[in-house]
Amino acid sequence: MNDTSYKSLSSWIPVPAGCDFPIQNIPFGIIQSKELPPRAASRIGDTVIDLYHLAILGYFHDLHFEPEVFLKSSLNDFIALGKPTWRAVRSRLTELFESGNPTLRERKKDHSTILHSIDDVEILLPVKIGDYTDFYSSIEHATNVGIMFRDPANALLPNWRHIPVGYHGRSSSIVVSGTPIYRPKGQTKSDDADYPLFGPSNQLDFELEMAFITGKSSSLGDSVPVQQAEEYIFGMVLFNDLSARDIQKWEYVPLGPFLGKNFGSVSSPWVVTLDALEPFRVKGPKQEPRVLPYLQSTGDRNFDIQLDVLIQPEGGVAHQVCHSNFKYMYWNMAQQLAHQTVNGCNINVGDLYASGTISGPASDSFGSMLEIAWKGTKPVRMPDGSERKFIHDNDTIIMRGYAEKEGLRIGFGEVTTKILPAK
Ligand code: MN
Repeated sequence: MNDTSYKSLSSWIPVPAGCDFPIQNIPFGIIQSKELPPRAASRIGDTVIDLYHLAILGYFHDLHFEPEVFLKSSLNDFIALGKPTWRAVRSRLTELFESGNPTLRERKKDHSTILHSIDDVEILLPVKIGDYTDFYSSIEHATNVGIMFRDPANALLPNWRHIPVGYHGRSSSIVVSGTPIYRPKGQTKSDDADYPLFGPSNQLDFELEMAFITGKSSSLGDSVPVQQAEEYIFGMVLFNDLSARDIQKWEYVPLGPFLGKNFGSVSSPWVVTLDALEPFRVKGPKQEPRVLPYLQSTGDRNFDIQLDVLIQPEGGVAHQVCHSNFKYMYWNMAQQLAHQTVNGCNINVGDLYASGTISGPASDSFGSMLEIAWKGTKPVRMPDGSERKFIHDNDTIIMRGYAEKEGLRIGFGEVTTKILPAK
């Protein structure tokens, strides 16, 4: 299909103006309701498509997989069928729901089992996440943190332009958008105190991130070459990697992030495939000095995805505090995966690799409160007159992400997270 006919595709399912989910998106997720046990789904407009029922009714019969692969509480078994199958399912959905195709459109008796309003279902975490890595791949973020906590003259550590720096996080506390998170408690120590204190974090922060989910496994001892790395990526989500800065600051030496990071990270519910994001590829920033050969990637490996963060106090209006873009990432996803596996570390279907905080060059594009309020020295004034240095109890953090070009918009929806008082 050429570019113009692809962009002009429309669905017989209504798609509201400005919606993140036109027929060109076709993301994957997991839904359930009182009547329906968990199952795989896609989405067009505000309509959810039950993939299990489509399969039962024979709409994928020639693709040779069992319908039960969709009757699961995660996408993992479906993802493990491999890229040719995800692609074939997406193409079939495009074909079935395209305006000009009467096959399913006119078979109205099938609609009640296949199609559900988004308001009638609960949307679950799409993937059972095995391992979770969090990178640190935004040069602006790493520079800002280096200026605040170390040395403005040498903000980036000497390894930063040579290694996609990352750490292994914890997958048990990754939850889906809408799940409230309790303010964490822990040890903190202020610079002028002799002893640490124990109590609720006073510096609870968000980190604006995106993450990719792997769709193919590798064997222990093998490395994924950078030029093949995208073959291992199923799709992407928005990711709010909550962080308690005061706990983090006291604990992180010498082994890195721990309890300041693992009390909750929040994913958007729909996995958007790289195929859907294809029209939004862009070049990444120039990498100087030249990286080692195993990290040298060619072609357009970044994506132009606009990212917004808003804070909504309880009962108040949502106030935008950040507008950033995924294209600012210094290290791209192919480089991250090549680096993750270069030592022989194996990866599995359903792993999650987060970008690290995505900050842009301008102060309104910083991806954390730590940077936006510059360590508390420049508080954000909210519409109700209150100030934010970090996140308050009962605030809801809202992240949105979408790519938009020449009338085509492919989005991720939202990640919303309400912060509850410490338990
Ligand atoms: Mn992070």
